[in-house]
Order: sequence, then structure tokens, then C-alpha cells
Amino acid sequence: MKDNRITENLILQLQEVVGSDYVITGKERTEAYLYDEVEKTYRPEAATDCVVVKPASTEEVSGILKAADQAAAPVVVRGGATGLAGGCTPVVDSIIISTERLNHIVEIDQENMVAVLEAGVTLMDLLEELEKYEGLSFPVHPGDEGAQMGGMAVTNAGGARAVRHGVMRKHILGLTAVLPNGEILELGGKLIKNNAGYNLTQLLLGSEGTLAVVTRVILKIFPKEKASATIVAPFEKIEDACHAVTDILRSGYTPLAVEYMDKRLFVDTAKMLGLKWQAEQGNADLLIILSERTEQQLYDAVRAINEICEKNGAYPCLYAGKQKEEEELLLVRSQHYELIKDEICDSFDMAVPVSYVSQFILGLKELVAEYGTGTNIIAHIADGNVHNDILFLPDGTIPPYADELKHKMYDLCYSFDGTVTGEHGIGKIRVEELAQQKDPAELALMKGIKDVFDPKGIMNPGALFDL
Ligand SMILES: Cc1cc2nc3c(=O)[nH]c(=O)nc-3n(C[C@H](O)[C@H](O)[C@H](O)COP(=O)(O)OP(=O)(O)OC[C@H]3O[C@@H](n4cnc5c(N)ncnc54)[C@H](O)[C@@H]3O)c2cc1C
Repeated sequence: MKDNRITENLILQLQEVVGSDYVITGKERTEAYLYDEVEKTYRPEAATDCVVVKPASTEEVSGILKAADQAAAPVVVRGGATGLAGGCTPVVDSIIISTERLNHIVEIDQENMVAVLEAGVTLMDLLEELEKYEGLSFPVHPGDEGAQMGGMAVTNAGGARAVRHGVMRKHILGLTAVLPNGEILELGGKLIKNNAGYNLTQLLLGSEGTLAVVTRVILKIFPKEKASATIVAPFEKIEDACHAVTDILRSGYTPLAVEYMDKRLFVDTAKMLGLKWQAEQGNADLLIILSERTEQQLYDAVRAINEICEKNGAYPCLYAGKQKEEEELLLVRSQHYELIKDEICDSFDMAVPVSYVSQFILGLKELVAEYGTGTNIIAHIADGNVHNDILFLPDGTIPPYADELKHKMYDLCYSFDGTVTGEHGIGKIRVEELAQQKDPAELALMKGIKDVFDPKGIMNPGALFDL
């Protein structure tokens, strides 16, 4: 699919579908639609002869795909472009479907506790809307609230709160999706139980725009929990911190989130923000975020978790119960990237079973030490999901060993039965690793499914599989 299929004739057809105001052509005007949030040093290179189309309805998406199918022209969907795997970057000249106008909150159905949302509704839009309803919330929270519902669905987004609430897959009951030939599918619904045939809704979740365009999601919503607190539990050793985590998970008191960062990241990020990291003792701090229905439940959970941490050798834990104190702790956790972003030339999203996480983190530290370098560890630790990185050399260049080190990190991850991506997805930057990680039979089935949905191979070329 090397020749450019974005012809003048195709552009005219797209203008007929959405109106010429919503078709953008020309390299200068389309260049703002090419990349996501992957670091420049390892993002895929974008093809530049693309056309951007902004549909406002499922029917318009269908019209776009019919035209694309006829011309066998590649199609890449661009949601909030907060992705961290290069998924929405077109690597061949493509029609880029920007979902920004599919931004209507169709319904907040309080009886069934579901929200019906167009794909371009951002997480921020949803959270703002739910504020208007007494006591409703949606718990899944990947770090950037500019992420859209369609993007969050097809990347099966996670985030810190997965400890308590799981990932997107757990919360989506139905989808409207448009097949590459323009056919519209209504999948699932507001049903809690639905065992009729293969679950195609679940198949599309995590498909990263390679099978169909999602235009609408039906999402579970939840009663809001009113009592919250954050504990900082400092440990001398990461092994003890991790042991406390598995004990907490077994205790029946399930925190909203359990986050780990290297101590220096907590201390230096706080300093950068003009704050002070209060936990002076220890080398391995856990940030344990609790959220409960009532103050009494919160009190019980704090007490039980404190006891578990103490039993595992924690120094005295610190508590933030007031909103301002909690916000400061979460700010330190969320702003660490500002501290380290200029040091990083590659970063990772591996996950291992939670019982192996301390060995994995220690293994990563040993590995980078062999190369005379370091790595920053930031982990959704109770999910076994570890984000770490490869650092530039002091002169700002990419180290000659970067590729070798990356493969050794992945081998280490596999040795603990892990996966190359816990939440960010394969996109266009981990295609080789997907093929390495998966058994050939599983990979062949995946490719077979892709062929059934997308026989002409027009959906998001280069994502998940080689071009
Ligand atoms: C600061 C920061 C923190 C983050 N933290 C987390 C985190 O904790 N956990 C986590 O899981 N992620 C995290 N992310 C990554 C990102 O926010 C998620 O992957 C998010 O789900 C992407 O949504 P999006 O709308 O931005 O998708 P995009 O980046 O626009 O697209 C992602 C993929 O989905 C496809 N796509 C998008 N919309 C559709 C659609 N409607 N139909 C079909 N295909 C579509 C695209 O083609 C692409 O392949 C973080 C990102 C940032 C910048």
C-alpha cells in the first residue's frame, strides 16, 4: 500500500460526506494531526500526504469508510491524541478521521446507571457532566483527561485506579462501531447480562483502531464515594513494600490506587513544586489512596492498611485526610514527568504478576547498572504495571546500547511471565515485541480476525502488525 491513495477524487467524495469545512488538506494544515504523546526520539515517523476529516455523526463516519473502502485508502482514527504508542500516527498517507465533533453526551441514564456517549467526548467532559448529578462518578482515570471515550475504549485504558475499579474493558456494555466497508454495528447495550454469541464489544476493546471506528460507547457509571484519604507508607526495602501490597490486596480492603515511584522522584518533584516530601525515612515509599462510602469505612480501611504496612516493616506512615494535603501528594505523583522528561529517550509500560514486581524492579535496576546508567521507576504497583525508561547519555544523545538494553529489559519481563504493555498498547512502537511475546498460533488468530473485519487492510496500517 505504498502508492498514495488520497486522490483528488477521494477528497471530493469526503467533502460530499461531511461538507468542505470539515475536510482539511495540505501539509501545513494537516501537520497538527499527525502525532500523539510518544517521545520524539522513538515515535513512528508520520506520512505527510494525508487528509483530515471531521465527521459529526455515525452516518458520516459510515460515508467516509465507504469512500475509503472503494479507493482502498488507509484510515487512521485520531481521538484525543494522548496515546503513548504512536497509534494515531499515520505511517502511510491516510484519511485521518478526527472524532472531535462526535462530542455529544447522549444520555446519563440514572436508572440503569449508564452513560451513552459519542466517541469524541473527553474524560474531562464526562467528569464535568457527572458533577451535575448528585453522587455519580466514573472511576477509570488514565492520566490525561483530554483522552476521549472512543480512544479510551479501543486502547482499553487503565490508570492508577485500576486496583479498585479495573480497566475500561470492565465498564463498557455496548458500542456503536463502523466497519471498514461502512456497515454500522450496534453491539451490546445497557444489558448487565448478555450471553448471545461471541462478545464483539470486548473484541473491539483494545483493538487500537485496527478493526473498526467506534462512534458511541455505553459506559457503566457508579455512585460517588464520599470519604477519601491518602497514606504515604515508607519502607526501607522495595521487597517489603511489595509484600505489604500483596497482603493489602488479600485483606479485603481494596485501595483505589497504590502507586510507587523511586524515592528521589517523590523528593525532587516535591522540591520542584515548592513543596516538601514529608517521608524522610526509608527508600521505597508507597502512596496508598483510599476511597470509601462513609467515614467509618474509611477509618477501618486506614487502620487495617496501617497495620499491614507496620507488620511488613514500614516506618511510621503519614496520612493526608484533608483535601489540600491529598491534592499536594497527588500533584507530586502526577508531575514527576516534568522533572525527568528531558532525561528520557525511551520509556516502557511492562507488567508482571504482582507477586514478582519487586524482583522485576530490582532486576531492571541491576540491568541498567551493568550499562553504567540509571532508570526511573514509576509503577501502578498493585497492578504489577511498571513504567521505566532508558536515559540519554549526559551529552543528550541516544546511547549506542539503547536497543540492546531495551531487549534485555523485555527478556527480563518475559522471564517473570510479563507483558510488554500493561496499558498503553502496542500501537506502532511495539509491533516487533507483540510478535515476540505471542505464540505463533495466537498471532495467526489475531491476524485472521483482522482479515475478517478488514479484508483490504485499510484500518490503521502498521498498528499491531507489520505493514
Ligand atoms: C500524561 C499522560 C498520562 C497517561 N496515563 C495513562 C494511564 O495511566 N493509563 C493508560 O492506560 N493510559 C495513559 N495514557 C495514555 C492515553 O491517555 C490513553 O491510551 C488513552 O486511552 C488514549 O485515548 P485518546 O482518545 O487520546 O486516543 P488516541 O491517542 O487518539 O488514539 C489511540 C488509539 O486509538 C485509536 N482510536 C482513537 N479513537 C478511536 C475510535 N473512536 N475508533 C477507533 N479507533 C480509535 C487510534 O487510532 C489509536 O490507535 C496517558 C497519556 C498521557 C499523555
